[in-house]
Amino acid sequence: MKKPSQGQTQAQPTGLQQLVERDRDHNCGGFGVHHVCVKVDAVARLPTRFGDFQIVAFWNNRDNKEHIALVHGDVIGASDVPTRLHSECLTGDALGSLRCDCRDQLEAALRALASMERGVLLYLRQEGRGIGLVNKVRAYALQEQGLDTVDANRALGFRDDERDYAIAAHMLQSLGVRSIQLMTNNPDKIRQLEQHGITVSGRLPHVMAPNEHNRFYLETKAARSGHFIDLDETERLPEQDDPVIVEGEPKG
Ligand SMILES: [Zn+2]
Ligand SMILES: [Zn+2]
Repeated sequence: MKKPSQGQTQAQPTGLQQLVERDRDHNCGGFGVHHVCVKVDAVARLPTRFGDFQIVAFWNNRDNKEHIALVHGDVIGASDVPTRLHSECLTGDALGSLRCDCRDQLEAALRALASMERGVLLYLRQEGRGIGLVNKVRAYALQEQGLDTVDANRALGFRDDERDYAIAAHMLQSLGVRSIQLMTNNPDKIRQLEQHGITVSGRLPHVMAPNEHNRFYLETKAARSGHFIDLDETERLPEQDDPVIVEGEPKG
């Protein structure tokens, strides 16, 4: 990876809207083993409590799921674009579940991206490490009977992680970013994107600042290298695949 440089200073219109027209007849060979192909389908402004974004809705030929990007600033043709890949977690993101810290990770990422000149968050609809919501709830139920998350997923006939970042790679290419600085603590995610042809020019540590409510949880998770322990001492893997780095805590 080359050293991150300053982003482009030249102001340009975002032009995300033009991607809808550009992609109307798009049909490439596809990314990854499943030859996934995406099109930019619709673009609109999305002011949020974290800052101003545009929401980009994608069509894809693979899973009938509605993956989206939240784009802050001008990213078409830009290099070193701060980027976060977030996998959907309905229970955490929308319902505030404490079984995971997905919502904390999502909010921290959006807040950070909105504070920068430009940035992209891909919201990938791969709920429950890719197994779907119903199966995630089934896996939670199995965990309550004493299985860990890996065994629970296997009991349901899945691998422990069914996620695939080929679609993320194509989405980034469709957005016209030249290179990204990936907001992650997970080198494997960088490797996967690079395998799909994305230039990852740098890494931004995804640091979670603890508050009085989640400090113990985050510190435990950090100390356990991405694993954390329930009050009933059941060990689980996090749903987002980034081990949390807590500000002020030793890494790893
Ligand atoms: Zn394509
Ligand atoms: Zn979650």
